[in-house]
Amino acid sequence: ALAITGVHKRFDKVTVLKHIDLQVRQGEMLCLLGPSGCGKTTLLRIIAGLEAQTSGRIVQNERDISWLPPVKRDYGIVFQSYALFPNLTIAENVAYGLVNRKKPRAEIAARVAELLKLVGLPTSGEKYPAQLSGGQQQRVALARALATSPRLLLLDEPLSALDALERIRLRGEIRRLQQKLGVTTIMVTHDQEEALSMADRIVVMNHGVIEQVGTPNDIYERPATPFVADFVGKVN
Ligand code: ATP
Repeated sequence: ALAITGVHKRFDKVTVLKHIDLQVRQGEMLCLLGPSGCGKTTLLRIIAGLEAQTSGRIVQNERDISWLPPVKRDYGIVFQSYALFPNLTIAENVAYGLVNRKKPRAEIAARVAELLKLVGLPTSGEKYPAQLSGGQQQRVALARALATSPRLLLLDEPLSALDALERIRLRGEIRRLQQKLGVTTIMVTHDQEEALSMADRIVVMNHGVIEQVGTPNDIYERPATPFVADFVGKVN
């Protein structure tokens, strides 16, 4: 679904990503896992077009998107902090991308209702973000990201601002939704348990390089490097 080839990123004199090669498969949930500063957020932002790579190529479903601006790319994104528009209702937040695309009003209303039901908030459309819990706001952010039926869902530490109970709940909800829709998903996390419990495959990163790519079982049972053994092994 997505082919990343030789993606390199330098900020001034600091190299943050070193020639990353990565194939993302259709319909999979891929977790980018690594310690703070390893470059995982930068890689996600480059895929989103929010940051320009220094060199390298990104091809999505046969289309070279390497230098396209974000609006020309086909993805939905959820950030760590909710980033909902505080002065818009929940329904208006979810409708945002659809309104931008000038969809008919009745179609938008139906789609918003469907999306809010999908994330378990069927009756919250008239509320404002501040009236919802953090976890509920992240569900709305998810609905907004999925509104235009993107073929790629990008999640940047979507659970890290939530309390422990909400985090566990949303792990399951996001995973079920992702599988139900079959949407190719890339999620950034520094939380080993989160990656192990949610991912089809995990990409373990350190200092701008990929240490290992594998299923949770591969990564856990057969770490390829001492770094992976140490970083993922800490779950024990
Ligand atoms: P975190 O979870 O802390 O965000 P990360 O693995 O996502 O960690 P990045 O945010 O991708 O890491 O950052 C990788 C490195 O790039 C860090 O050393 C960071 O200081 C540096 N960096 C990120 N953005 C910029 C920027 N705009 N200008 C300069 N350096 C940056």
